[in-house]
Amino acid sequence: MTGRKNFDLIKKNLCELGYKVSCFETAAEAAQYMDSQIDKKTVGFGGSVTLEQMGLYELLEKHNQVSWHQRMPEGKSSQEVRMEANAASVYISSVNAIAETGEIINIDGMGNRVASIFYGHEKVYLVAGENKIEKDYDAALYRARNVAAPLNAKRLGSATPCAAEGKQCFDCKSPGRICRGLFVLWGKPMASDYEIILIHENLGY
Ligand code: SF4
Repeated sequence: MTGRKNFDLIKKNLCELGYKVSCFETAAEAAQYMDSQIDKKTVGFGGSVTLEQMGLYELLEKHNQVSWHQRMPEGKSSQEVRMEANAASVYISSVNAIAETGEIINIDGMGNRVASIFYGHEKVYLVAGENKIEKDYDAALYRARNVAAPLNAKRLGSATPCAAEGKQCFDCKSPGRICRGLFVLWGKPMASDYEIILIHENLGY
């Protein structure tokens, strides 16, 4: 237990880096807000336990066209759905770690999530429960590699040395390695609007 985190510093730093920042007490409140903001759009989701826990897909798909490989429609391959998500007007992802100094980190295996966050959308939303917040870049990088990635490998049942306990990274050379790319946003990319959603709950890994 880390206790309730104060969002004042991270919000200030993220705003200075060009992001819009919205803070919520609960995942349900954050999901309701996003549902009120995103209407009649094509929307892409990155792979995410956080978004699953928020129930966001079920809200948005009632009045948007949402593509998510965790909700596969009949007759399409997961690759097709990832490509659709990549081409959507709005893209939504969670993060593996976010530093109070403003750096946002994700590790990806397929690459669709990090590629989609970087470029090509009208607006990108990045969602983080307070368990994802660390004090600086080094701590955030450590979290992404040694907390988020092993727990995700365990969840996916990956044939990797971290998956048994999900407690640390062994920097493996396994064919099933899920850590293929490291993605750091140092500031808001120039071409699109970005909004960071911070939530006072522990969400995802
Ligand atoms: S590099 Fe390998 S051991 Fe480390 S977290 Fe990723 S899959 Fe697990």
